[in-house]
Amino acid sequence: MGKGNCKLIIHGGAGRLEGKVATKEQYRIGLQEAIHPAYETLLEQGSRAAVLHAIRLLENDPIFNAGTGSKLQKDGRVRMSAGLMDSMDGIFSGVINIYDVEHPISVADSLRAEVHHLLSGNEATEYARRKGFPFHDPITMSRFIEYRKALRNREKFGTVGAVALDDEGIICAGTSTGGIGNETPGRVSDSASVAGTFADSVGGVSCTGKGEHIINQAVAAQVIYRLRDGVPLKKILTELSKEGASRNHEFGLISLDQTGRFGVRSTKASISVLYALKDSHHQLDFTNGGRNLIL
Ligand code: ASP
Repeated sequence: MGKGNCKLIIHGGAGRLEGKVATKEQYRIGLQEAIHPAYETLLEQGSRAAVLHAIRLLENDPIFNAGTGSKLQKDGRVRMSAGLMDSMDGIFSGVINIYDVEHPISVADSLRAEVHHLLSGNEATEYARRKGFPFHDPITMSRFIEYRKALRNREKFGTVGAVALDDEGIICAGTSTGGIGNETPGRVSDSASVAGTFADSVGGVSCTGKGEHIINQAVAAQVIYRLRDGVPLKKILTELSKEGASRNHEFGLISLDQTGRFGVRSTKASISVLYALKDSHHQLDFTNGGRNLIL
């Protein structure tokens, strides 16, 4: 595979469901500022490095609900989750409800080398400290104000994710989130699970939307296992979103298959995935407006 086959797709959550801390144009700019440098990383260092780079940039950007700028839970605290997986070794690693770190995705990455690849809560945060990740307060004023208007912000979601294919054919997928906002402390998101993030040699998926719904349909893992059975990506996404719509589920996803086909899909017109993609032929960034994209 040559550099010309490298592909990167990223997302910044589920459109208007993100909340009101930024305009659509600001989200577009935020995605642009992440995809170009991360694509350079993809060409130079491969898919895992690119996914990490893209997600760290989005975690740094306070308008996205991941890392700095994460939504607050019902008790006024930020707890974040992130998951990461690639086709090189097929190891899923992640953190659930970690707090006071700048880059949950980096802690998820670090856990790949450990005996246990998934840690939660206090223990995830203590692990991060032991590994040298410094204290970082991810709460921003906008999110705090949003939290104070908590009741009106129920059922809003948002997250960030990336999927990349490199010139060695390695596929990596990652997702990082501050959750849905105002959730019961202890709630577990889909992002650090194989329902929300999954990759192997046939494809990669990162989801956004209501975690409970994503978990109900085992979305990311289901896409990859059907790809393994030889079902085309388009058919899988069509059937998946049809089932989602019939169950009144609200989620969207970004995906890539091993041939380099991009897929963006939502269960409803109101779930508009904010995404950007880049390869040697395309540079697209917009919301999918609830529509579906196969490229
Ligand atoms: N899926 C995330 C969660 O349920 C939120 C999101 O993607 O917007 O925590």
